[in-house]
Amino acid sequence: MVRVFQGSLPRRKVLQGSLAAVAAAILPRRLGASDTPGAAWAAEGRGGGRQSVPSIPGLAEERYPFSLPPLPYPPDALQAAIDAQTMEIHHGRHHQGYVTNLNRALEGHPDLHGRTLVELVAGWESLPESVRTAVRNHGGGHLNHALFWTSLSPQGGGEPTGPLAQAIRDRFGSFQTFREQFSAAAASVFGSGWGWLVRTPSGRLEIVTTPNQDNPITQGNIPLLGLDVWEHAYYLRYQNRRADYIQAFWNVVNWGDVAQRLG
Ligand code: MN
Repeated sequence: MVRVFQGSLPRRKVLQGSLAAVAAAILPRRLGASDTPGAAWAAEGRGGGRQSVPSIPGLAEERYPFSLPPLPYPPDALQAAIDAQTMEIHHGRHHQGYVTNLNRALEGHPDLHGRTLVELVAGWESLPESVRTAVRNHGGGHLNHALFWTSLSPQGGGEPTGPLAQAIRDRFGSFQTFREQFSAAAASVFGSGWGWLVRTPSGRLEIVTTPNQDNPITQGNIPLLGLDVWEHAYYLRYQNRRADYIQAFWNVVNWGDVAQRLG
C-alpha cells in the first residue's frame, strides 16, 4: 500500500497529521482524483486481471521458484555510499530471506507458479488469504531489492540525461529540486520502508513512499527508482543518521537503469 501523497483509494490509511504536513510541504502538487494511479486497476479487481499488470523491464518474466539475483558488482564497489559488510548482509541474508520465504509460501500453491513476480506483487490483495501476507512482504521484498541492486552502480551518481532528465525537469522544475524532494520523502518514512520515484499510469512522475516491503506496482505505478530506508540498509555505517545515507545514495544511482523503466 502506498502511503503517500495520493490518498483517495478506499482502503488506504490516511496519513497521520504530522506526516501529512511533511508530505504537503514536500510535494508541489498532490495528485488529482483523475490522476489516481490504479483507478483502472481497481476497476479490474486490483490486479486480479493479469492482463492489466504493468510490466517492469527486466523483472517481467521471473516465476516460481524464485532465486536470488547476483549483485551486479562486488560488495565493496559502492563504498561511496554503502560499506561492503552492509552489502553482503543486505543481499546475502535479507534479500535471500525474502526469496526463501516467498518460495516456501508458494510451494503448496501450484496454481500460482505461472504468475510472474510482478503479477504476484501487483495483485497480492486478491490472492488466497493463506499466501497473501507472505507475497506482500516477501514477494515485495524480493521485487524491491532486485530493483535496488540494479539501480545502483559504482559508476553511478551525477544526473540523468536524455528523456528522463527532461521528464524530471518538466515535473519538478530542476534535478536539484527533485533530489531534495525525494530525499525529504525518504527521510520522512516512519520506521521501515522505501522512497520511490514512480511513473503513474497516466505517465506522470511522482515521489511516493511505501511502508515495509510494499511496492508501488500494487497501486499501478511503475517504480523507476527506489531507496531502501530500512535500518538494515544503512545502520552499520550510518547508525541513526539516515539523512547522511540518503545524501550518499545519490553518489551511486545508476541513471541508465532508472531511465529504462521510464518507458
Ligand atoms: Mn533491504
